[in-house]
This record gives sequence, C-alpha cells and structure tokens, in this order.
Amino acid sequence: MSHRFILEPYKGVASRHTCPECNHNRCFSRYIDIENVITFPEYVGRCDREQKCGYHFTPKDYFEQHPDRKERLQEQTSVAPRSYMPPPPTSYMDETLVEKSMSRYSENKLFQFLSSQLGESESLRLMKLYRVGTANHWQGSTVFWQTDVKGRVRTGKIMLYNSTNGRRIKEPHNHITWVHSLMNKEGFNLKQCFFGKHLLPTDNTKPVAIVESEKSALIASSYLPQYIWIASGGKNGCFREENLIILKDRNVVLFPDLGATDDWSAKISTMKRLGITVKLFDYLEKNATSEQRKNGFDIADFLLEMKQPQAILQSMIAKNPALKLLIKEFGLILIEKPIQPISKVKKKGFKL
Ligand SMILES: [Zn+2]
Repeated sequence: MSHRFILEPYKGVASRHTCPECNHNRCFSRYIDIENVITFPEYVGRCDREQKCGYHFTPKDYFEQHPDRKERLQEQTSVAPRSYMPPPPTSYMDETLVEKSMSRYSENKLFQFLSSQLGESESLRLMKLYRVGTANHWQGSTVFWQTDVKGRVRTGKIMLYNSTNGRRIKEPHNHITWVHSLMNKEGFNLKQCFFGKHLLPTDNTKPVAIVESEKSALIASSYLPQYIWIASGGKNGCFREENLIILKDRNVVLFPDLGATDDWSAKISTMKRLGITVKLFDYLEKNATSEQRKNGFDIADFLLEMKQPQAILQSMIAKNPALKLLIKEFGLILIEKPIQPISKVKKKGFKL
C-alpha cells in the first residue's frame, strides 16, 4: 500500500511547488497515487528543506484525519489495504529551555519596541501571556513559542526586530529561524500550531481573531482584548484542517495583512465546513492608502497609529530617563494599560 502513494518524480520546475509551511518556492513535492484514484490536497507532500523547514505531511497523516476518504479508498480498491501505522508522535520542546528564554527582556528588541508603544508592564504581561522569550541566536532577538492547548511547546520561531519601528530585520538577510532546526534533533516530528493556541481554552465564549504575524497578535490583544488573538505565522501558516479543528463551534474573525485578503477569503469555505463561524475583516483592504499597502500594513499597525498618551510619555522617558525616576520618586501613577480605544475606533467607522 505504501508504495502506491509516492512523491511526484521530478519532471521539471512545474513538478515542484511552494511549501505550505516555509513558503519557499519550488522546494515542495506532492504525493501522487500511482493508481490515479486519489488526488491529495496540495498540502500533502514534503519540503526539500529538511533542516530549515522539515514539513512532511504524508498520505498516512491525510487518511488519519479523513477516515471517510480512507473508507472510500477501501471501497474503491479491490485488494484490502494493510492497516495504517499510527503517525509518529509529535515532538515537543524541553520546558526548561522555554522557561530560560523568558527573561532578559531589556535586551529584547521587540520588547523595547512594545514598551515604547504600550508601556513596560503591559509589554511584560503580553510576553508572559503569549510565551515570548529572548533568544541568543542574534543579539536581542525574540523567540515566539508555539504552545498548544495542553501547554506543550511545538517549536519556537526566532526573529529579529528593529527596536525603534518594530519592523523585522530583513537586511542583509531575513533574520528568521526555528528552534527545532537550530537544535538539529534527529527524528524531531514537528507539528506546528497557531501561535497563542494555548489561550483558546481560557475563555470559550470569546471570539477568536486570527492575524498573520505573532507580533501583531500581541499588539492587537492589548488594544482589543474582547478577542483571543492568535497568529497563523504566515499567509498559509496554520490553515491546515488539522490545526483548524480546534476552532470548531467558535466565532472567528480573520484579519489578513493588506494584500492577503483574497488568499484568506479562500480559506473561509473550508473553515465553515469544519463548523467554524467565520468572518473576514476587510476594512483595511477597502480603506488603506497606497503607502500602507506598499508596507503590507496590518491591523496592529493600524491600531498603533492611534497613538496612546502612554506611548507619548514613554517616548519622553526614552529621551529623558530622569523622568522615569521622577515619576517613581513622586509616586506619579502611570496608566500602563492603554485606554480602550474601541469607542475611538467606532467613531472612525471601524466595525468589529
Ligand atoms: Zn518548507
């Protein structure tokens, strides 16, 4: 049976596709059925970038998740197939490693940026809540731990930010890597999950908001806490059915980056089929300026543009550190939590 489904042999560039996990072009081989009965969805295949990405979704994984198709296959196949081996167990990160990273925030470039916008204590709360740490890989880099609903960590995504504008450092190269690939663990069975997934069971009544970027999930959750914000980690990121199941029976709003609205609306029918009530927030797509479009603006950038008084104070402190001391000495109270901007948002005709 296992010989029936093979990776499509190389027949020129058209037979190599974009990896659904790492988004690299022409590195992804899809599985085909040599008997031509089954056509697998596009995500069933293997990425050539074994160390950097490691994505491998086998026909076995596919049938595990779609017992109905397996049954149909058995009906269509004259020879009874052998029973499928259970998939290898998902691998997890060592908790001590995760805990150790949850410190040294003063060096962390993203933390520095968030503090300038939201204040230090709010930024610290967000880092702890979402399980974001400081990595050694690049000086001041940030590690976003992908934690599942049982609190187990699947992997960590390491990125480096500019502490002034909060943008990712992409020169001279894109500063992004993964903890599981740095560890180079033999037989590590990576199963990615939504960043922030561990927060879903904390309140089953709250609607869920999905953004692309981990950083944006943090920022948006500070401004709009009436949602549980999670990140897909990329345009296609976690939109595989195995990851979406957790959202069954929940209200979900998709907040795509500018320019990704079409890609994300294409996912809506799959989500609905899985029992998810889903809406798409396309306010930005309809209202963005060309400058915002060029920069791939997202909801967090938009929220940050609505400057908070706290942020103004923080930028004053940055210019004059003595101010912080004064505030402490004289017991001036900082309003660390940003004022709910929702009423302001409504005034701008921004319906949520
Ligand atoms: Zn890949």
